[in-house]
Amino acid sequence: MPNAGPAPPTAAAMTDLARQAGFAQCVTLLRKTLRLAPVGWILVAWLAWGRTPAANLATWIGIFAVLWLANLVTLHRLERAGPQVDRDAPALIRVAVFDGLAWGLLVLLVMGHDRILDSWLAVVLCGVVSQNAPTYITYRPAFRALVAAMWATALVSATVIAERLHAAPQLAAGLTVYFLLLVNSMQLISRRVTEGIRLQLENAALAGQLEVALQGMERQATTDPLTGRMNRRALDTLLARYIQEGRERGARFALLMLDVDHFKRINDEHGHPVGDQALCRIADRIGTQLRSGDSCARYGGEEFVIVLPRVDAEAASDIAERIRAEVASAPLATRPPLAVTVSIGVAEYRAPMTAASLLARADRAVYAAKRGGRNRVVLADSTSFEPSR
Ligand code: GH3
Ligand code: MG
Ligand code: MG
Repeated sequence: MPNAGPAPPTAAAMTDLARQAGFAQCVTLLRKTLRLAPVGWILVAWLAWGRTPAANLATWIGIFAVLWLANLVTLHRLERAGPQVDRDAPALIRVAVFDGLAWGLLVLLVMGHDRILDSWLAVVLCGVVSQNAPTYITYRPAFRALVAAMWATALVSATVIAERLHAAPQLAAGLTVYFLLLVNSMQLISRRVTEGIRLQLENAALAGQLEVALQGMERQATTDPLTGRMNRRALDTLLARYIQEGRERGARFALLMLDVDHFKRINDEHGHPVGDQALCRIADRIGTQLRSGDSCARYGGEEFVIVLPRVDAEAASDIAERIRAEVASAPLATRPPLAVTVSIGVAEYRAPMTAASLLARADRAVYAAKRGGRNRVVLADSTSFEPSR
C-alpha cells in the first residue's frame, strides 16, 4: 500500500479550523482598526465644539480613552498569546461591548443640546457601526455584541435625556432599523467569508496530502521493497547523472557489482524467506563500509551495484575488498547457520563509456571472480584481488 500520509481532516475539523482562523484574523484587524478611534473623537469634538458643554465632551472622550486603552491592552495580550476562539471569545466580546458602550455614551453626554448636532451624531453612530462591520466579518458574535452594546447604551441614554432630546423616538427607531439591517446583511457576507477561509484551509490541507502522497510514490518508485536500497530505476538515474558529470567536468567515479555466491543453495536449503532475510543482512553489511556519498542499489535478485563517487579503480578495489571481507567475516545468522561470501567486480568510469558499457565491464569482472573461485574482488580488465584470508 502506498503511504498516503495522514488521514484527511474531516469537514467538521475544517469548519473548526476556519472558525479559529477567522477569530484570529478578527483580533488582528480589530487591533489595527481600534487605533483609529481617536480620529472619531476628533470628528465628534469638531462637530460638537461650541454646540455642547465642553465638560461633557471632555468627559465622553475621557471615559472613551480609558475603555479604549483597556481594549488595546486586551487585544495586544490576545495577539501575543495567539488568539484561541474557545478560550478568548469572552475577552473579544468584552472588547466589542466596551467599544459599543463608549460610542453609545455619545448620546448621554454630547447629544440633547443642539438639534443639528444630534442629527450629525446619529449619522456618526451609524458610520461607526458600518466601519466596524468589515473588521468583525470573520467573527460575528463580537459584532453583534458591539451593535447590541451601542444600541442599548444609546437607547437608555436617550431615555435619560428624553426631555431635552428633540426627536428621541425617531433617533431610537432610526438606530434600531439601521443596526438590524446592518447585522442582517453582515450575517450573509460573513458566512461567505468564513466559507472562503474554510475552502482555503481545505485546499492547503489537500495540497499537503498530495505532496506527502507524491513523496511516498516517488520513494516507492525508486526503492527496492525488500532491502530498502535504491532499485534499478533509481540506479539508472544516478548513473546517468554521474556519467554526465564525468563527461562535462571530468568527475571520476567507480562502480562495484556484487553477486552473492551460491545463493541458490540458501533458498534450496532454508527456503525463500530465509533467503530474503539474508539479502537484507548482506545489504546492511555493505552499508557499514560505505561513505555518506556512496550509493548502494539492488541490481537484480542477489546482485547489488555500489556507486562510489570521487574514487579511482585502486581505491574502489580497496572498498570492494572491505565489503567482501565484512560479508565473509561472520555468518549472517546462526539459526539457521548462514555463512555467505560475495564476488565483486570493480569498474572505473572513463569517458566516453555509457552506463551499459560500464555495467557490462563490472559484470565481466564478476564473472571472472566466479570463475576464479568466488569470494573475491576482480578489477575489470585487470588483475584479480585475492581475498585476504
Ligand atoms: P553464483 O555463485 O554462481 O552466483 O550462484 P548463485 O546460486 O548465487 O546464482 P544463481 O544465479 O544460479 O542463483 C541466484 C538465486 O538467487 C536464484 C534465485 O532463486 C535467488 N533469488 C533471486 N532473487 C531472490 C529474492 O528476492 N529472494 C530470494 N530469497 N532469492 C532470490
Ligand atoms: Mg546472480
Ligand atoms: Mg549468485
